[in-house]
Amino acid sequence: MSRVFSGIQPTGEPHIGNYFGAMRNYVRLGEQFGKNSLYCVVDLHAITNPNAFDPATLAEKTYEMALANFAIGLDPSQVIFFVQSHVPEHHELNWIFTSITPVGELERMTQYKDKAGQFESIPSGLLMYPALMAADILLYKADTVPVGEDQDQHLELTREIARKFNHHFGQTFPEPKSVHDPNALRIPGVDGNGKMGKSKGQGSTIGILEPLDAIWQKLRVAPTDPARVRRTDPGNPDVCLIFDYHKLFSDLDTIQLVDRECRTAGIGCVDCKKKLMEGVTEHLTPIQQRAEELRTDPDYVKDALRQGAQEARAIARPVIEEVREKVGFLK
Ligand code: SF4
Repeated sequence: MSRVFSGIQPTGEPHIGNYFGAMRNYVRLGEQFGKNSLYCVVDLHAITNPNAFDPATLAEKTYEMALANFAIGLDPSQVIFFVQSHVPEHHELNWIFTSITPVGELERMTQYKDKAGQFESIPSGLLMYPALMAADILLYKADTVPVGEDQDQHLELTREIARKFNHHFGQTFPEPKSVHDPNALRIPGVDGNGKMGKSKGQGSTIGILEPLDAIWQKLRVAPTDPARVRRTDPGNPDVCLIFDYHKLFSDLDTIQLVDRECRTAGIGCVDCKKKLMEGVTEHLTPIQQRAEELRTDPDYVKDALRQGAQEARAIARPVIEEVREKVGFLK
C-alpha cells in the first residue's frame, strides 16, 4: 500500500493559487489513501529562513493553515494532519541524514542558491533544508509525494539520501516519487505580475478566506487585455488573467460566453468581472462559512492537530527504532 506525504508551509491564509495548485489535490488523495495520507504543516522548515518568519505570528499562521485545509474539506478524522514540530522524530532522522549528506549536494540545490543570496551570513538550516525534507518523507516510509515541479530537485536528493542510507546501513527506506497534480493550474497574480504569491505584497493574491468585498476591490482594478482600451474595442481573453480566473470559478456556459463576447466587444470588462465575482462567491462562500464554524470552536483544530501528531508518531517511532538499531546506537 502506498503512503502519501506532503508538507505545507505555514504561510497563514492560503490563496487561490495554493487552493487550485495543491490543496484540492490533498482532499482527493485523502479520500483515496485515508490514514495512509499524511499532511504536515512544516513549521521547522519555516524557521530556516529568518527573513521570512516572525516568531510573533508563527503559531497563529500554523493554526490558520490547518484551519483553512479543514475548511476546504480535508477531514482530519480521515487523514493524518499534524504540525511538524509536534513530532520530534523529524529532528532525529534529520540529524542522521545530515550526517550522510555531502555539503556539495546541498549547495547545488537551486532553491538554496536562490535564497542564500539574501544573506550576508547564511544560516546553516537553509542549507540543510532538503535533508529535513528527506527526513519528513522517509520517517513515514512514504513513497508518494504530491509536490510542485519546483520541488523535483529536492525529491531527487531524497531518493539519493534513501539510497545512501540503504547502502550503508541495510535496506530501510523506499525511494519516493513526486506526483504532480495533472489538474494543477498555474494561477496568475491579480496584479498581473506573474504567478500568484510570487510577486511582492498582498496585492497579488486572492485569499480563499478573504472577505468577498475585498476580493471584488482587487478584481475591479485588475488589469485586463492591455489592447482593449475602449469598451468598443474587441478583446482577447487568451491574454487576460480575468479569463484565466473564469476557467477556475465559472461554469462552462459562462466561460464560453465570455470567450465569445469578449472577442466581439459584446461584453465590457466590468460586466465580465461581475460575472466572475458570481462564480467566486459561489465557490468560496461554503469554504468561508465552514472556516467561521471552525473558528467558533478553536479546540477542534487544536485537538485534531494533537490527535494527528499522535497518529504520526505511532508510525514514526518504529521507523526511528529501526534506524537507531541499524546506525548502531547503544540501546
Ligand atoms: Fe478580459 Fe473579460 Fe475584458 Fe475580455 S471582457 S478583456 S476576458 S475582462
